[in-house]
Amino acid sequence: MKYYSTNHNSENVSLRDAVVRGLAPDRGLYMPEKIRHLPDEFFRDIDGMSLQEISYIVADAFFGEDIPAGDLRKIVYDTMAFPIPVAKVEENIYSLELFHGPTLAFKDVGARFMARLLGYFNRDEKQLVNVLVATSGDTGSAVANGFLGVDGVHVYVLYPKGRVSPIQECQFTTLGQNITAVEVDGVFDDCQALVKNAFMDAELGSRMKLTSANSINVARFLPQSFYYFGAYAQMKALGKADSLVICVPSGNFGNITAGLFGWKMGLPVRRFIAANNANDIFYNYLNSGVYSPKPSVPTLANAMDVGDPSNFARVLDLYGGSHSDICAGISGATYSDGQIRETLREAYENTGYLMDPHGTCGYRALKEQLAPGETGVFLETAHPAKFKEKVDAIVGGDVEIPERLQAFMKGRKQSVPLSRDYADFRNFLMSEAR
Ligand SMILES: *Cc1c(COP(=O)(O)O)cnc(C)c1O
Repeated sequence: MKYYSTNHNSENVSLRDAVVRGLAPDRGLYMPEKIRHLPDEFFRDIDGMSLQEISYIVADAFFGEDIPAGDLRKIVYDTMAFPIPVAKVEENIYSLELFHGPTLAFKDVGARFMARLLGYFNRDEKQLVNVLVATSGDTGSAVANGFLGVDGVHVYVLYPKGRVSPIQECQFTTLGQNITAVEVDGVFDDCQALVKNAFMDAELGSRMKLTSANSINVARFLPQSFYYFGAYAQMKALGKADSLVICVPSGNFGNITAGLFGWKMGLPVRRFIAANNANDIFYNYLNSGVYSPKPSVPTLANAMDVGDPSNFARVLDLYGGSHSDICAGISGATYSDGQIRETLREAYENTGYLMDPHGTCGYRALKEQLAPGETGVFLETAHPAKFKEKVDAIVGGDVEIPERLQAFMKGRKQSVPLSRDYADFRNFLMSEAR
């Protein structure tokens, strides 16, 4: 299948090129040229299928023309090797727990899929593919863990010294194997600048194959559609799938876009809700029809602090640019830090279910917007222990840290300290070139 750019000013490319390039040359985002409607039998039988089986059928609709069935099945089954259960929070409100993967957040799914796909594309090459990623915390851990142990790929995670939380840091500095953490004496923007310089450095590029694992990559965002079908299957098994509303805590809008793809493939969802924190750009767009990006403001749900959501271009494209169609399919919500605190605490006191600050926005939007007879599922995008200090302070408790996270914290930290000068980073990469 070919992929086109949302800006329609670049040629259509193969899956492989879309994955390796990430962004189209006209700076648009790649979209698959076909979104297939899945057959009625699939939806009829879905509640008897495993998440891996469901995921493979969805993956086949996108990637089946480009990857032989056996290879695709292996990539999908390896990616989806952990459960994504729905948990009942209260009458008619369920949480899709996306935190059972290696780094306890939904980004594990996309990162694991992309890693395996790149490994597959590079399988007969002698030269390693090197993934460069700058992180302010969470992206680095999802990408590093997603790529851990994948043959033919090496990952360099650049992070700002002293500016990521200890829990985040240990998730990419203790891995070893094909993961190298680079501790930059600077801020996140310095890390990002180093990565950008490296991509523009033709001589470096001739010595080593470089690529990014940005979240706009089709190989990271499309696989996120798998678990929307998994959620539907579980709700159907509970007899609760007839008027389903899915609520997605949103920042860059990759996650919800994957859900909208699912809906285009026939997933019987009545409507979607995009729940924002105080960064309310999409909410304002729904109300006014005008998209006005602005600088992001820091909030408690910091993975959603986005002032110009990249995947807005994909949402527009899916709906042919029609504001009224978008409003018919998606409603919005926006919450202050005060509201997030209040809702997180109240939900915990009233139901015993502890959420993270991102999922809390999703839960609250369902509470406010569900109509009688509807059932809501919100995406719990991360485990509350990932934000332990904040959540402890809100509920006045001591959130238990899951074993997987504790294991990282026991590991030995290894990183390469570098200055923020490009010359240093370049010398280091050159010395690593293979
Ligand atoms: C990345 C992230 C989000 C936002 O997802 P988008 O796809 O950018 O909308 C929400 N919650 C958590 C925990 C995240 O890490």
